[in-house]
Amino acid sequence: MTVYLVGAGPGDPGLITVKGLELLRTCDVVVYDRLAPGELLAETRAGCELIDVGKRPKASEITQEAINEILVDRAKIGLSVVRLKGGDPYVFGRGGEEAQALAHAGVDFEVVPGVTSAVGVLAYAGIPVTHRGISDTLTIVTGHEDSNVDWEAVAKVTGTIVILMGTTQREAISKSLQAGGVPQDTPCAIVEWGTTTRQRSQRCTLAELGQIPARPPAVIVVGQVSQLNLAWLERGPLAGKSVVVTRTKGRAGELTRLFGGLGARVLEIPTTQTEVLDVAPLEESEFEWVVFSSPTSVEVFYSTLAGSVVGSHYAVVGQATAQALASHGIAADLMPDSFSAQDLVAIFPHAQPTNPEPISSNRIFYPKSQIGRERIIKGLENKGWEVVSRDLYTTVPLKLDEQQLREVMGCDFITITASSNIESLGEIVSEIPGTLVCMGEQSAQDARRLGAKKVLVARHQSLNAIVEAVLSA
Ligand code: SAH
Repeated sequence: MTVYLVGAGPGDPGLITVKGLELLRTCDVVVYDRLAPGELLAETRAGCELIDVGKRPKASEITQEAINEILVDRAKIGLSVVRLKGGDPYVFGRGGEEAQALAHAGVDFEVVPGVTSAVGVLAYAGIPVTHRGISDTLTIVTGHEDSNVDWEAVAKVTGTIVILMGTTQREAISKSLQAGGVPQDTPCAIVEWGTTTRQRSQRCTLAELGQIPARPPAVIVVGQVSQLNLAWLERGPLAGKSVVVTRTKGRAGELTRLFGGLGARVLEIPTTQTEVLDVAPLEESEFEWVVFSSPTSVEVFYSTLAGSVVGSHYAVVGQATAQALASHGIAADLMPDSFSAQDLVAIFPHAQPTNPEPISSNRIFYPKSQIGRERIIKGLENKGWEVVSRDLYTTVPLKLDEQQLREVMGCDFITITASSNIESLGEIVSEIPGTLVCMGEQSAQDARRLGAKKVLVARHQSLNAIVEAVLSA
């Protein structure tokens, strides 16, 4: 079978090509890197094998030879393989080496080019790489310390110089370019996490480049085009503000999109993780209603009990929960406007105790998290229902690493959508200079008790209310 070397684009999942996306949706195996956008993996079909060959801590780094071997082996047993690479496969992506290995092994391959970060990231930061009357040359160069770039020669080309993989070497690069004759006041820009909701761009002069705080991945541009500022992404009421979203991994998307759309820089830091519990089998199988109060309960339900439960109607709390259910082909019959479980109880119909058979007519199944939620059960029982519930999962705090702690300390807002988020922030809560924006009074109280200096509470239990709280701060 064929191996497709597919460019995923620089970060915004919308920047993959139509052809690339089509292959991703139909292939048997995806072999992907660290810089390939994670959202794209969600496009693969059920049963597609996902192999992460991204860069890891040095000790366990996967070699290029091992990656080549995976590609060859999978293709040879008849699987169609997408090798998904950040940006364009042939721009500093080692895609050429992979193609050579495939050709050498007699495996068919095709290349689907992608939007390279060298051009796309700068476009998202408002910088056209060429501009009539300002720059008519584009040099794309690696800044990696192992490369043998002749910086003095690069300096002589003039025009626009775009440097990939140069973040950590930027001081030395700046000096070499100056030595080669590029004036020290030449405008530059450095764009981190371009085209993603984490995008941050900073402008400076060549002389200042070494001192600008920045971390990889970033694109550096040196040249007069850097003074053009056709910015459109980092605009909006929250431009220049950074927001940490502390939801469980995979659950942050909606909030990230909302804040990103307002121009904020969004950093997703999961502070909790879900642990699936051993679930006792059910005696009953037919229920009038099945109630879900979180997207996680939908997902765990479908991976554990779904086969043994039939519900006539489905009720959910929260838009995200409704979406999770819809992804299993079921539209929710009942959902309160707010994110609140109490509101679901309020709009829930009363059981009809006089109903004759079937017996399922007064029974609700409520698969739930081990933590809390007892009030829903009480509320539904008060309306005459018999509630059968099962604890499907629990949420445990995750310890943040140093980089994540630094991001929390450096950002303007930290969103807290569950009390368990606070636990993971633990001892640092009292030192956080930014504002904690809490979805509920409970989390706000916990935050204050732990010494948080600035706390905001959203007016409702909804993601939109969190965003409103930030906007009005
Ligand atoms: N094949 C890729 C480049 C791979 S080299 C492409 O065509 O874009 C990896 C380098 O690309 C990073 O060190 C960084 O310089 C740049 N890069 C990739 N994605 C980026 C992003 N979203 N924001 C900023 N730089 C990015």
